[in-house]
Amino acid sequence: MAVSRRHVLRAAGLGAGCAALGVSWRMSGPSAEPVGAEVDWGALRQRLTGALTLPADPGYAVAKLAYNPMFDTRQPAGVVRCANVSDVQACIEAAATRIPLAARGGGHSYAGYSTPDGGLIADMGELKSVEVRADGTAVIGAGARLIDVYAGLAQQGRCLPGGSCPTVGITGLTLGGGIGVLAGKYGLTCDSLLSAEIVTADGVIRTACADSEPDLYWALRGGGGGNFGIVTSLTFRTVPAQRLAVFQIRFPAGSLSAVLGAWQSFIANAPDEFWSTLGISAGSPPTCRINGCFVGAEAEMNTQIDRLIAATGATTTARYTDTLDYLPAMRYFGGCANYSVAQCRPSWNDTGVLGRESFMASSRMLTGPIADPDRFTALLTGRTGLDVLLDSLMGAPARVPAADTAFAYRGALASAQIYVGATTPQARAAVSDVRDGLGDLVGGTGVVNYIDTTMSNWPSAYYGGNAQRLSEISRHYDPDGVFTFAQSVSKI
Ligand SMILES: Cc1cc2nc3c(=O)[nH]c(=O)nc-3n(C[C@H](O)[C@H](O)[C@H](O)COP(=O)(O)OP(=O)(O)OC[C@H]3O[C@@H](n4cnc5c(N)ncnc54)[C@H](O)[C@@H]3O)c2cc1C
Repeated sequence: MAVSRRHVLRAAGLGAGCAALGVSWRMSGPSAEPVGAEVDWGALRQRLTGALTLPADPGYAVAKLAYNPMFDTRQPAGVVRCANVSDVQACIEAAATRIPLAARGGGHSYAGYSTPDGGLIADMGELKSVEVRADGTAVIGAGARLIDVYAGLAQQGRCLPGGSCPTVGITGLTLGGGIGVLAGKYGLTCDSLLSAEIVTADGVIRTACADSEPDLYWALRGGGGGNFGIVTSLTFRTVPAQRLAVFQIRFPAGSLSAVLGAWQSFIANAPDEFWSTLGISAGSPPTCRINGCFVGAEAEMNTQIDRLIAATGATTTARYTDTLDYLPAMRYFGGCANYSVAQCRPSWNDTGVLGRESFMASSRMLTGPIADPDRFTALLTGRTGLDVLLDSLMGAPARVPAADTAFAYRGALASAQIYVGATTPQARAAVSDVRDGLGDLVGGTGVVNYIDTTMSNWPSAYYGGNAQRLSEISRHYDPDGVFTFAQSVSKI
């Protein structure tokens, strides 16, 4: 790729609805440097406002940590804690074509793609501001974690449909879609994205929105993290924060087939306000529970829960309901109900108490109901330590026209995560077995936010019929494949 250090002042003229850009530079060529040339770390450090941490520096062992300890053996060549957009440009210029480059938000990539061995991490963690404007839109720094987003919005009485885990990054989540407890009512996280500021491989700061870089805007809503450049901020539509009714019901062992059959029919016809996830623990026999929430009164939620339980024909073994304000509800679903916002942050590189987690996982997308729940039950019988989580995608996500965003599975019934809390070869084998068995039931689909290095036919699994258009957009914005990793769109 062609790289020069020529700075270009660009008076950016953008269409209506997009924020004005500042000064940017452009990399242009041809470059005198061969591909694979050394990175000039000294020059990079001088140019940066944020810190550069190299392997010999104190703090390197912490700076490189991702969420999953499975990636602790990776040795990135450097980690830049980007302090501003210019630092992001400096990272791209320094690393492009020389060493792998990856942006990092929350560090939760299932495949560790934000921790490239021998590469440069552009850590966005300092860019975590949350600004709510008078019109209710929110401008969020690309490095914000979900807890920062929820707390910042709640302070202004606003909310955004996001995901559950408080330490997940808003950008990784959004770029791959974003499934959470408010999805039924308000859609995927990417459905609320109005615009994104992104630095592309040529070093140019672009604003992708409906009337500027529309192809890029399309691709950033479901096309997967790390593919088209480094996002520096996201602007979302938000809605007024409301109190939420929350619930969990548990079923006796042996009832999975009946519960699955009933749940699939129920969610296809449930009101948008009612969202749920069916959690299944493999075993002999497997067990299951349903968690969820209702955007409205607890009494109305209870009516829905009664209907659902009746449809299963089973007697529940436990039933919990409550009504919570928006932020406590997000903390409840994030497993940190008993902690303050400050505590709901990472313990490994921040002041919080939340720890990391070793796991292996994969996914499928249920484009329709599993026709034979008994076969699904059989797939999970006799295994231990493995969970499957089915998250409803009915309601608002299903009504977005398929061509409007890169998220490939509009109208799908639910996503399926297959999860083992270990990183042994046996854990990998179990996850792959269940993924493949589920694939026999629902087809060779997958969820890019639950990215799996061993997923076969990954372009079609993650992107379905959108794979080709995504590939063309990648070639346009990143012709030299600066943003390349094992399952990057640049490889399609
Ligand atoms: C415990 C846990 C809970 C989860 N819960 C949910 C959930 O409720 N709903 C859901 O939909 N998903 C969920 N996920 C999946 C999550 O959405 C994805 O793993 C997501 O990619 C994580 O984003 P991140 O920023 O935390 O991770 P990172 O590893 O930092 O990034 C993920 C990918 O996005 C890229 N990326 C990060 N920042 C940028 C940027 N600024 N510009 C361009 N590319 C970037 C990275 O290079 C990498 O390829 C969960 C994951 C975990 C581990």
